[in-house]
Amino acid sequence: MVDQQCAHERHPSFRLTEMAAARISIFFFALSLFPASSALPWGGAHSLVNRYAVDNLPPEMVDDGSDNAFGDMRGYLSDHASDPDSQKDTDPLEEERHWCDIDSKIDEYPPPFTSVPRDYTIYCSVFGRDNGVIQWEGIRDHYENLVALMCAREWATAYQRAAELGHYVADATCPLHATANYDGQLSPDGRNSGIHGRYEGMADMYISVINTTPNSVTIVEDPLELGFGILAEGQQLVNAIMAADLAAQDQTGSNESAEYYQALFNIVGSDAQIRLDLASKRLADLWYTAWVEAGRPPFFPLPPLVIDLGWLLVVRPFTLGISLNEDITTPFDYYLLADTPAGVYTIYLNGAIKAGITPIYKNVGRFDAPFSTTVRPSVIIPLSMKGKTITFYTAVIEAGMVPPVRNLDELRPCSRYVIMMDKKTVAVAP
Ligand SMILES: [Zn+2]
Repeated sequence: MVDQQCAHERHPSFRLTEMAAARISIFFFALSLFPASSALPWGGAHSLVNRYAVDNLPPEMVDDGSDNAFGDMRGYLSDHASDPDSQKDTDPLEEERHWCDIDSKIDEYPPPFTSVPRDYTIYCSVFGRDNGVIQWEGIRDHYENLVALMCAREWATAYQRAAELGHYVADATCPLHATANYDGQLSPDGRNSGIHGRYEGMADMYISVINTTPNSVTIVEDPLELGFGILAEGQQLVNAIMAADLAAQDQTGSNESAEYYQALFNIVGSDAQIRLDLASKRLADLWYTAWVEAGRPPFFPLPPLVIDLGWLLVVRPFTLGISLNEDITTPFDYYLLADTPAGVYTIYLNGAIKAGITPIYKNVGRFDAPFSTTVRPSVIIPLSMKGKTITFYTAVIEAGMVPPVRNLDELRPCSRYVIMMDKKTVAVAP
């Protein structure tokens, strides 16, 4: 929490100068200066990077006849390219995943920043998490999660993760996400102040196409090191961007007119184009490497796995309380749970499965009142459970006594208010 407040103070204008916000303000600005047809036909650099990255992939990743390959998902990848920015509203740790001020200790850790600690814990102890952790939490962690999701062929979530990964790669590629002087606030005379929004606004206005080369992907040996490399390259351009900002202001007497943006683009526009081209290229490299690491899974969705729950029926009619601890004389809650390597899930009698532990019957009458129910004969479980072991539990818990229970470890068999009715471990065929 302290880190977060600190980050907000150090990056006071960050939310405002992020691409989405810049796009909104620039959008109205652009509308007033240009014919409507030329105002932002494509919707931002993030969606552009994700959409065009597909064109660098090998043909077998673009279309395998499944209607679910990367080529088929181009629109989704583009539409969800800015989702990580929205996550800042709900996740207090999200903000720092969008940058790394890699030059904040430039005297001790000079370019090309190879001495900046690669170990996350050491880095945070030296620089602080609020110096930005995009290469770990943004790029590396999302890459690793993407591999796991591709392995499990959980394509819906995999494409969401692939889109988010693209966001972090594009952010890291922006030079102003790789420097302590991210908004020109450290420049000598204050004239660079606000450059973050101006630079990204310029890219949004003038760059509508990304250059791609089909089947140009290469394996990424180390996603974390790739992130460091992207940041170090971007940081090298920071001084040129600051100088271009001043030159464009000098030429046009403005830092907000159409002439200013044209002048800025004339000086650093080609560099910005190259950065966005590279973001798309590296994103494709990461998607491809994840797919190879996952064993080149086909993009066809798997049919759902179905577990036979017939064993639960042996106790039907399901009469609770008959042989239970006699201490239970108050109303109780009834649970049907699946304990899996991916977490604990509650199985509802309508077939729904939700993460966590919640009763499927609450406040059932006293145990001496017979309680009957029909348990579903089968249940659909996540594909990622293939080859894993799942333990199913039915449990009664004296109403209101134990929750919130979040882990099965917290349940206390034979305690005063928890009684395991049944337990069954099932190995799911690979
Ligand atoms: Zn961002």
